[in-house]
Amino acid sequence: SFCFAKNEIIDSNLAQIHPMDITLIRGYGIFDFFRTSNYIPLFLSDYLDRFIRSAEKTHLKLKYTKTELREIILDLIQKNDLQNGGVRMLLTGGVSANHFSPADGDLFIFCEELLFPEKEKYEKGVKLLSAEHVRMIADIKTTNYAFPVWLSPSWKENGAEDVIYHFNGVVSESSRSNIFMVKNGSISTPNNHILHGITRKRVLELAPECNIRSITFEELLDADELFITSTTKKILPITVIDKQKIGDGKVGEITKKLMADFVDMEVKHTS
Ligand code: PLP
Repeated sequence: SFCFAKNEIIDSNLAQIHPMDITLIRGYGIFDFFRTSNYIPLFLSDYLDRFIRSAEKTHLKLKYTKTELREIILDLIQKNDLQNGGVRMLLTGGVSANHFSPADGDLFIFCEELLFPEKEKYEKGVKLLSAEHVRMIADIKTTNYAFPVWLSPSWKENGAEDVIYHFNGVVSESSRSNIFMVKNGSISTPNNHILHGITRKRVLELAPECNIRSITFEELLDADELFITSTTKKILPITVIDKQKIGDGKVGEITKKLMADFVDMEVKHTS
């Protein structure tokens, strides 16, 4: 496959990163990730805006404009025949004299195969394990996922899909997804200490009545329905948190309706 590395499109196997780049030695860099649906980069403008914003907020210089990035991406999708896959943009922190300060980073854009969770998980829902944690500079899509990577073996051991973070009793998000709850027919989602997901944004368009508010962990456990949203999971129902069943333990009706509406929205964007 082909990737964009530094300033050109090359064979993906030939891409190189300096071992002293602070993305490697300090976990400091930014990325973003979107997918193609029938060759169309879904909601690309939103992802590019977020990537550009992440670069600005991390003091990293992106040497390409939104228009230039879009052209490189369209070229890569074509060269890789990426009908339904993932595209990862990475801007590294660069190599600095003190091995700490943000420097002049390198831009990489990779195309990847993308596998969604199995159908059964959408039909039956999945389990999350809770962890007391809050992400720092949460609205920047940094490359630092050390905490959830460190946790992830425990999910496998416990039959869980992922984690749900709470801190001082307040819920934020999952490791790579945003969360929504439904109680007595009304939908809510947290707004603080989260990455503002593009899938979350789409769900808010489908459900404009959704309350954007602080949600306690106690409330979350008492919800009728829960679901998480992300580029790689779309809308995935949550039916268990730790050992607690959510609602009646089945995928709820409002969740099902939004899952169907999300599919329609994607079809509308790509046909
Ligand atoms: N929150 C975090 C921490 C993430 O890393 C992600 C996506 O990777 C999300 C939320 C969901 O964002 P999106 O819907 O844009 O994929």
